[in-house]
Amino acid sequence: MKTRRCAGPRLRETNSQLHRHWTRLGVCLFGLVMAATAAADVTIADNGKSNYRIVLPAGAIPAERYAAEELQHYLETMSGAKLPIVTDAERLASREILLGNNARMANLRPKVDFAALGPDGFVLRVEGNRLIIAGGRPRGTLNGVYTLLEEKLGVRWFTPEVEVVPKLKRVRLPKGTETRGPALQNRDVFWREMMRSADFAARHRVNGQHYGLTAKHGGPYTICYPFVHTFDALVPPALYQEHPEYFPLIDGKRKSGYVQRCLSNPDVLKLSIARVQQWIQEHPEATIISVSQNDTINNCQCEQCKGLDDAEGSPAASLLKFVNAVAEAIEQDHPNMLIDTLAYQYTRKPPRTIRPRRNVIVRLCSIECCFSHPLETCPAGENRRFRDDIIAWGPVAPLIYVWDYTTDFGHYQQPFPNCDSLQSNVRFFVKHGVKSLFEQGNYSSGGQGEMEPLRAYVLAKLLWNPQADVQRHTQEFVNGYYGKAAPKILAYLDATHRPVREKGLHSHIFDPPTAAYLSEDIMRQAEQLLDEAEQLAENDEVRFRVQVARLPVWYVKIATNRVTGDARADLVKRFVAIARKAGVSNISEGTSLNDWAKKQGAE
Ligand SMILES: [Zn+2]
Ligand SMILES: [Zn+2]
Repeated sequence: MKTRRCAGPRLRETNSQLHRHWTRLGVCLFGLVMAATAAADVTIADNGKSNYRIVLPAGAIPAERYAAEELQHYLETMSGAKLPIVTDAERLASREILLGNNARMANLRPKVDFAALGPDGFVLRVEGNRLIIAGGRPRGTLNGVYTLLEEKLGVRWFTPEVEVVPKLKRVRLPKGTETRGPALQNRDVFWREMMRSADFAARHRVNGQHYGLTAKHGGPYTICYPFVHTFDALVPPALYQEHPEYFPLIDGKRKSGYVQRCLSNPDVLKLSIARVQQWIQEHPEATIISVSQNDTINNCQCEQCKGLDDAEGSPAASLLKFVNAVAEAIEQDHPNMLIDTLAYQYTRKPPRTIRPRRNVIVRLCSIECCFSHPLETCPAGENRRFRDDIIAWGPVAPLIYVWDYTTDFGHYQQPFPNCDSLQSNVRFFVKHGVKSLFEQGNYSSGGQGEMEPLRAYVLAKLLWNPQADVQRHTQEFVNGYYGKAAPKILAYLDATHRPVREKGLHSHIFDPPTAAYLSEDIMRQAEQLLDEAEQLAENDEVRFRVQVARLPVWYVKIATNRVTGDARADLVKRFVAIARKAGVSNISEGTSLNDWAKKQGAE
């Protein structure tokens, strides 16, 4: 699960054609909103000029200073007016944009309750001759600036390279107050597309630990060290030689290799506590320490472990008893440190009576589920069982996090028809008290899995607001990113989702290219649509985006041998050339593009 840190922001380019397209749309949408509220508007800039200035608190933190710079930059790009940035130590002016916990707000009624806003929430207030964007620290004010730019002024960040800023003759805002905050404390879109640029991730208001968010972005919400599957690091496999009793008893023998540990052994607990204390010392940046099972089954069946698990009706019992003991041991010295463990595969069902301590996070994983249909309503047994488990953990776990899956990990380059269920699943998690959502996708160093930029975009919107209008966001993205080819891309999405909608076919994250929902008929339709999309593309840049979008159709065709002989060799060559140009590194979680290409005879 180790991942490369993102290499930092890439150069932002403005796509002039998209820009023009969006400028028209932006002005049009804005005009509609304004028509209803024109009487109560505040005009920030008019005809390239502004009388406003941006006022920071004198003691602003880096994320608030960056919020001021971002606001200044985008207001200038859209209106031509560059607003000065000053602090509240300067004399009051008649027209001001106030950021953060500003001294200017001393007499503001009602007062902004910063504590209630948490680290990400904010108040947006337009009144008299001022605009207030006041957020909790560290990220609230920056989130407020991005929300204003995106939702009120029409800015769109489709990818790190493709952004759209409407040109506005007048920048006007309707008067009013709103308080906003995210539905989830920790929002993690674990797709490479979202990890390529920390600036881009911050604009999407995600706050996971893999984006490289620095102080100017307000940093990540939490830092979990080590990330996951930590038993080998807690009690090293090499100890087996001298202490086989630390390792699981399976079929009457203590087993070595990639296995779990004997969690009722007191020395295993002692070693683990010592290692956790060492990690806390060595990693002062960590806010969560992971004490979590290895990525396998092989759990201990010794009399004590099994006895407890049987009595409690779940192997989560011996795990949780052990994790609670570690959490108790560090609690006094580190009252804010949390211990994270998994409810994963064999440990997903909660024990009957053992309860997680107040400083223990239980992280459920939906790995077995069908993702074409909502977790809440899909009739598949695996979804019913997951549903039962999350509902059972709800009242007993103080902190529930979820590790969710949003691609085919066996075949990143394969249509995965899960778009219909993304929103219902996020809502379902939030409804059952989940505080942190980790949406795992194609996290390989090169990314670019099926419809990756769209997926990353929509997931980020949902993690901030589970009620987001997914259809609108999808259409805006596809229009903005694929230009004139957009209608065919939308038709492609429709075609690849039709079998799971109409025939009730389920989909899982290791489905092969022979999956029923990828039938020859559907794939032929998909190829036809993407052919047409490629012909409609208005320039080379957009054409290349369409070519990347059609890789999955070719991938299935090659993998299912629906193309043979020279035609196959030619298709493999074209696939590899486009995939390399797009930067694809992996064809699946465990197979590189190069290895796959060799196997197909492309090298
Ligand atoms: Zn045991
Ligand atoms: Zn299903």
